[in-house]
Amino acid sequence: MGLIVQKFGGSSVSDAEGIKRVARRIIDTKNQGHDVVVVVSAMGDTTDDLLDLAGQLTDDAPAREMDMLLSAGERISMSLLAMAINKFGERAASFTGSQAGLITDSTHGKARIMEVSPQRVRRAIDRGFIAIVAGFQGMSKESQNITTMGRGGSDTTAVALAAALGADVCEIYTDVDGVYTADPRVVPSATKIDEISSEEMLEMAASGSKILHLRCVEYARRFGVPLHVRSSFSQHEGTWVLPDPNDKIKIQEGEPLEQPIISGVAHDHSEAKVTVIGVPDIPGKAAQIFGVIAAAQANIDMIVQNISTHGSGKTDISFTLPMTETKHVLEALETARAEIGFEEIEHNDEVGKLSLIGAGMRSNPGVSFTFFEALHQAGVNVDMISTSEIRISVVTDADKLNDAVRAIHTAFDLDTEVEATVYGGTGR
Ligand code: ADP
Ligand code: ASP
Ligand code: MG
Repeated sequence: MGLIVQKFGGSSVSDAEGIKRVARRIIDTKNQGHDVVVVVSAMGDTTDDLLDLAGQLTDDAPAREMDMLLSAGERISMSLLAMAINKFGERAASFTGSQAGLITDSTHGKARIMEVSPQRVRRAIDRGFIAIVAGFQGMSKESQNITTMGRGGSDTTAVALAAALGADVCEIYTDVDGVYTADPRVVPSATKIDEISSEEMLEMAASGSKILHLRCVEYARRFGVPLHVRSSFSQHEGTWVLPDPNDKIKIQEGEPLEQPIISGVAHDHSEAKVTVIGVPDIPGKAAQIFGVIAAAQANIDMIVQNISTHGSGKTDISFTLPMTETKHVLEALETARAEIGFEEIEHNDEVGKLSLIGAGMRSNPGVSFTFFEALHQAGVNVDMISTSEIRISVVTDADKLNDAVRAIHTAFDLDTEVEATVYGGTGR
């Protein structure tokens, strides 16, 4: 008997049947004697549909109104889920993010959690209710406005509540059986991972693997919350993300004692590449460029500077960033063009990023060769490269990305015989 936080993603509650299925599952947990707090995402593709709708009215919506709009998706699912649970004879009450005490800063669209004060949620569970909380939203303390935490942010709501309430586990229910060695929609032969260190999960999430929101993994690691990623469509045991770096991974009989070199391949279609051409090759110019980008609050990922052609005194600086942030970054750079003294800017949305992740690659010299040879054999041209101790990432043409993922997955022997099940969702 304990306290369990369960988060259900949009594909798990995409229609009335899905909501009923999830309601029954929550009641089962409650009947096992646990207190249950549920975090729910908007139904199916609701958030994308709301974004499309706003896009038909304006390409420059006030950020405050955008958050007001998007937070409505989760209000629909939370109230419907509470109704279904009540209909099945259990008591449930739904709460918006602000009612549940999720206090954020004022950065609309990617608000960060400042404080979690879940007294109302606590009171509800103490009175025997199942508390249902709307994902990915909160309220800014400063402006009192409703904020959202960025796409996929309901995972982070769930972990933040689990930490604040001292839950025993945070279960992330989705449309696949856990974390796989690659996205099963792209690599059907991907292998399910039973346990993964938070270090590797962080790199996977940071590299664009959307199975878990990056900030959810960071938060879980920081507050020691055990995460269990599993399917709401099956009863299979999912993937445990071990919060404490000192936690031991359980080794099955017959398995090698040394950790596998590679844990998985992540890919990301959501980034764009920007190249600032003809930058004066003198100290301080990169600082000026990235100063402008920082002021625009954009998150830069890879950065490459090309050596200036002999004698030209100029250099090109390329970087990648989320596609959604290109517009205002390009505008900000354009405004600073004369001051920085660069010649022109190019940008390309048709790029993809592939990352190979594994804590075991630290001590394995052959990884880079196998990686680049596999890309070569698959006819994939590499545009940018970056590495960390446990990751190699490359930028490629967008239309080559899926082939590249499959080639790398096979080259590192990650394929299994049984095809992974994708239970629902549109993969949008
Ligand atoms: P939810 O709506 O439940 O939050 P998401 O669509 O955000 O679900 O995340 C689940 C999806 O993540 C899966 O359907 C799968 O396509 C994708 N995915 C990407 N990388 C992985 C991976 N390594 N393992 C499992 N799923 C992955
Ligand atoms: N509904 C939001 C989204 O689609 C938040 C989430 O699902 O986690 O991004
Ligand atoms: Mg998600």
